[in-house]
Amino acid sequence: MPTPGLDGYAPAWLEPEHEALAELARSFFVNEVLPHAARHEQQGHPDREHYRAAGKLGLLGLSVPEQYGGGGGDFTHEAVLLHEQMACGEGSLGLAVHSGIVTGYLVAYGNDDQKRRWLPGLCSGDLVGAIGMTEPGGGSDLQEIRTRAVRDGDDYLVSGSKTFITNGGLADLLILAVKTDPSQRAAGISLLVCELGDDRPGFRRGRLLEKIGLHANDTAELFFDDFRVPAANLLETEGSGFFQMMRQLPQERLVIGVGAVAAMQRAVELSTAYAKERTAFGKPLIGHQNTRMVLADCATRTRVSRVFLDDCITRHTKGELDVATAAMAKAWLTEGQCEVVDRCLQIFGGYGYTTEYPIARMYADARVQKIYGGTNEIMKELIARAL
Ligand SMILES: Cc1cc2nc3c(=O)[nH]c(=O)nc-3n(C[C@H](O)[C@H](O)[C@H](O)COP(=O)(O)OP(=O)(O)OC[C@H]3O[C@@H](n4cnc5c(N)ncnc54)[C@H](O)[C@@H]3O)c2cc1C
Repeated sequence: MPTPGLDGYAPAWLEPEHEALAELARSFFVNEVLPHAARHEQQGHPDREHYRAAGKLGLLGLSVPEQYGGGGGDFTHEAVLLHEQMACGEGSLGLAVHSGIVTGYLVAYGNDDQKRRWLPGLCSGDLVGAIGMTEPGGGSDLQEIRTRAVRDGDDYLVSGSKTFITNGGLADLLILAVKTDPSQRAAGISLLVCELGDDRPGFRRGRLLEKIGLHANDTAELFFDDFRVPAANLLETEGSGFFQMMRQLPQERLVIGVGAVAAMQRAVELSTAYAKERTAFGKPLIGHQNTRMVLADCATRTRVSRVFLDDCITRHTKGELDVATAAMAKAWLTEGQCEVVDRCLQIFGGYGYTTEYPIARMYADARVQKIYGGTNEIMKELIARAL
């Protein structure tokens, strides 16, 4: 279905191969994953099998070099995949983290041996990836993390806990932010790649967190108590973790922005279609001036958002996306998402408040976009610092 207000628009980076990828991704989400949506929501996580099915189709690791099992593309390919997932309302597979973030860390900071060990499994879907930064004591002030890694021979012994970890229920591979030198703030942080397993001594998954939205995706607490991680799993050097995260966060924020724009597009599509078919006072809702004005505002906001996002994607693929612009994208696009989805929900009247209508889920799912990936308040701090 074309998005009202976006007819004829195509991003400057779009090539025919992106369109073929979009079609493949859409068909996978709609035909293979969405039929299981109710069960995924009930169990609180996707089926592991769906990661493998995505891997078989070549949908995982699109930006990972082919020599490590990936698609050899770039961020534009990941953006197409994530857009299609969100645009059709599939929310169980944590691809934004698995492909949009975890593989990016390994490609950027892994040595050849580390890349060979983990990237093929992430690309085939045999491994599910996660990233653990946030701790119960706080997520915004990353320099204050407490999870400790102490060197013990050829290993590190890790103790501490992480919370709100996307894919945390299924994850096999976790990029874990730890303090290797607690006397330092940023300079004491390192990244360890942890191979998780429910039978591994010193590691325990907590419960799946009950959230107001994103019910089909597993968000979990993870606990470590003298959990042994080989020193060979350190990404680059001790003390470089904070700077590695700062370099990757612009991409994480763009990933969130891609989801925000896809959700805005879907909200405008759904509510325009509804406004054409539902009648009140003897005419379709779209015949009432207020409905027309609301939809016009939402379509305009969506189009402007899309153009800004595409500019950020172009900059990012050239290695030119700066921290402040990525923060602008994350904050402005997610605020737009929440506003557009809320206004579109209103057009559905009471039906918009029932979970039978996708717009209701989109409303609940949207809220967290202003919180994770760095809260929007922190985004504004980053923008302000650049002024
Ligand atoms: C569904 C979900 C999935 C998530 N997935 C992951 C994941 O995969 N990996 C991961 O590591 N984390 C994940 N998170 C955690 C998320 O990134 C954090 O919740 C977020 O960074 C905020 O941290 P916090 O919750 O500790 O809030 P706090 O840091 O306690 O902040 C509380 C409030 O204070 C405000 N605040 C804090 N500092 C300032 C300041 N300097 N100026 C102004 N206001 C400020 C914040 O903006 C916020 O409004 C996820 C969270 C959720 C809900």
